[in-house]
Amino acid sequence: MTSLPLIPVDPDAPGARRASMPPQHLADLDLAGRKALVTGLGEPAFRARQISTHYFGRLVRDPAQMTDLPAASRARLADQLLPRLLNPVRELACDDGATRKALWRLHDGALVESVLMGYPDRVTVCISSQAGCGMACPFCATGQAGLTRNLSTAEIVDQAVYLAGVAASGAVVGSPARLSHVVFMGMGEPLANYNRVVAAIRRLVAPAPEGLGLSQRHITVSTVGLVPAIHRLASEDLSVTLALSLHAPDDELRDELVPVNQRWKVSEVLDAAWAYAARTGRRVSIEYAMIKDVNDQPWRADLLGRLLAGKLAHVNLIPLNPTPGSRWDASPKPVEREFVRRLRDAGVSTTVRDTRGREIDGACGQLAAAEDMGTDPAGNPSA
Ligand code: SAH
Repeated sequence: MTSLPLIPVDPDAPGARRASMPPQHLADLDLAGRKALVTGLGEPAFRARQISTHYFGRLVRDPAQMTDLPAASRARLADQLLPRLLNPVRELACDDGATRKALWRLHDGALVESVLMGYPDRVTVCISSQAGCGMACPFCATGQAGLTRNLSTAEIVDQAVYLAGVAASGAVVGSPARLSHVVFMGMGEPLANYNRVVAAIRRLVAPAPEGLGLSQRHITVSTVGLVPAIHRLASEDLSVTLALSLHAPDDELRDELVPVNQRWKVSEVLDAAWAYAARTGRRVSIEYAMIKDVNDQPWRADLLGRLLAGKLAHVNLIPLNPTPGSRWDASPKPVEREFVRRLRDAGVSTTVRDTRGREIDGACGQLAAAEDMGTDPAGNPSA
């Protein structure tokens, strides 16, 4: 049995290392908060709506383009409401331009990434909620590096607003121009940055100009299974989709693959998921990375099927994306097919996730990890 890792569930607790948070940005505040700030600067309150309309309504993030604001006000407002939070390091495209990945350097040098995925009927962005991650899952590239810090609400929202702007420019050929879905499946454990993530969700769903106007159902929060936070999320007046990174149906293996399982066991985390489903009416997505000879045995499929049968759940099998130097590999396709067959025989709805972005390390923190190691995403030393 592995030892219990340090799990910084509450990095804001007294005594926790002070992280270097970025300056405040308009996306940290609701519309009332923006009005209060604007009037405090001696500007008329309507400027809050004006600047919000640029940012959330037209996806304009650069104050220089907000030419309907008088120059003096613009400078003052930009300074207080639109500090630059995300400095682009690189942007990569693959899958014929349908997948684009952005790597950002934050004000303190921390690296995070976001991915835009275009489909015929929708556009999804995958965003990060923390720089690094403290959950230490051994198959995940982000988990290897540990937690640097929580992102601010605006650092989270700005990723989505930026990529919504990329989609609106028509860059994703063959997909709608309007961003429709957001998944918290980038770097970090969203429920370990609870307050900022919930505030970010409120910005994403508030109608413009207060927010981006996305549907709650089109937002997915993916978690390792922080049980108290799942219960708390169920009690918010939000019905976002919950994705639970289960990866094993038994405690012995899950203790290793998702170390937080040493604190909250499979049965507890599933009970929390069913409580969430009951409260919100939303089907829970069960994430399961298929790892060759580790968690892909027929008996584990059967056990998983018994745990999930009759529940408001859908299984998303993810072919493992091996991290550099990993001792693990993806399951062979016939093994994966047998796993799917057994789950479906148990009456559990199951799909296999597409592997978007593999050639640009679009999955699971790998681009930022490659940048940190001084290699390019293909693993070659960078110039
Ligand atoms: N911390 C959250 C969200 C981030 S990761 C969580 O764990 O749910 C999003 C999903 O990608 C999770 O299901 C995670 O377990 C999975 N994942 C991480 N590394 C992976 C890898 N190398 N291959 C396949 N899936 C991976």
